[in-house]
Amino acid sequence: MTQFKDLGLKEELLKALDELGFKEAFPIQEAVIPVLLTGRDVVGQAHTGSGKTAAFSLSMLQEIQPKKGIQGLVMAPTRELAMQISDEMKKHGKYTGVRIATVYGGQGMGLQLDALDRGVEIVVATPGRLIDHLKRGSIELRDITHIVLDEADTMLDMGFIDDIQFILDLAPENRVMSLFSATMPTEILRLSEEYLKNPKQFLLDADDLSGEGIEQSYLVIKDRDKLKYLIDFVKQTKGQCVVFCSTKYRTRDVAKFLHQEKFDAVAIEGDMSQHRREQSMSKFRSGKADILVATDVASRGIDVPKVELVINYDVPNQEMAYFHRIGRTARAGAKGRAITFVSYSSVGDWNLIKRQIKVDLIDLNKEMGIEISIPDPLKRQVPSRRYGGQSGGYSRGSRSGGYGRTERSDPRDDRRGGRKRYGDRGGRNSYGGRSRW
Ligand code: ADP
Ligand code: MG
Repeated sequence: MTQFKDLGLKEELLKALDELGFKEAFPIQEAVIPVLLTGRDVVGQAHTGSGKTAAFSLSMLQEIQPKKGIQGLVMAPTRELAMQISDEMKKHGKYTGVRIATVYGGQGMGLQLDALDRGVEIVVATPGRLIDHLKRGSIELRDITHIVLDEADTMLDMGFIDDIQFILDLAPENRVMSLFSATMPTEILRLSEEYLKNPKQFLLDADDLSGEGIEQSYLVIKDRDKLKYLIDFVKQTKGQCVVFCSTKYRTRDVAKFLHQEKFDAVAIEGDMSQHRREQSMSKFRSGKADILVATDVASRGIDVPKVELVINYDVPNQEMAYFHRIGRTARAGAKGRAITFVSYSSVGDWNLIKRQIKVDLIDLNKEMGIEISIPDPLKRQVPSRRYGGQSGGYSRGSRSGGYGRTERSDPRDDRRGGRKRYGDRGGRNSYGGRSRW
């Protein structure tokens, strides 16, 4: 195990790390920090909760000088993640004199302009609002020496790529740039070559999307039974719990139901005002709320160490999203649990995700003795032309295994919706005002 001082970090940083109780560098930090400090670009992949934030934050804070203009830029896909990164960097940089501004949509320009006027050296931003500032001249990138894309696979996906290109075009060529994410699909790695100069890649556990330290299980039930089981599982949980739903509507509904049942639950979804989003997050972070019900707006990067259980109330619509969602538990080497509720109509989607999971999954139907009563088309005495095949019948022995749909919509359909989903332009909520999330 490597100490932070062995990585060549300065005294001001070591003091802050000591106060935070960081004793040793985590593997991604040990790998990446020395390389970034030599000025080489980096792609950093390591599983959720493995300390990627400090890997880029410390490298940046080591080199950035107070009072010499904006030198560091970190971009993240959601407002809450931008705020979290900014808070963490402020803790690391407590003794450096480096000032950090957070720039995101949904908050009036005034506060952000005031902070920028006072002078900052690092900006942590969602792309949409950053572009607004660049256009009005309140942020300039000419002195930038360090750029980070956190959740890089999302940032280089179709929803954001034009914005990122616009921003990077305004930054000096001569800069250290790094990309971080728990998931780095090969097309993103290929794309990264266009943005980074001879990057050193650290893919610490790229083939292992297992969800380290997370006990994963699933339960196939009727959609209308989900609330009942949700209550059962949250009652059994001592720590905090995140419940992911597929739409904003379902998120609101589930949160309302939990309130009626007298649980301390808060919700976060893209149609809520920024003020209410922040209220929910701060109640959850401080432990005043036990349950966070959320759309995928909270699936990336959010770090709340006491989260013990993640419930996928609905099967995620992307395989990657599954690993990011469950990664909200088991932070920094802790243990956690994830349960996925699979409605009968989602069995096909779930089978696709299941194939990617390399650890033993617990089948809760078996364990709890809950029968699956999906109608068996072979037993139903109906003309196959009417009910079979494409028209939605359950096909047994399908390629994806078991029942469920074999067809899957083009994954690019998800991405085409990306701009709306993640977009943060013109005061619209991040993840889009009109999207399902
Ligand atoms: P990732 O971005 O890889 O998902 P984070 O950067 O959010 O993970 O870190 C997860 C948690 O680990 C955070 O609460 C962070 O404060 C903590 N952490 C990071 N590095 C260390 C370290 N070296 N020692 C102890 N805790 C750490
Ligand atoms: Mg992170």
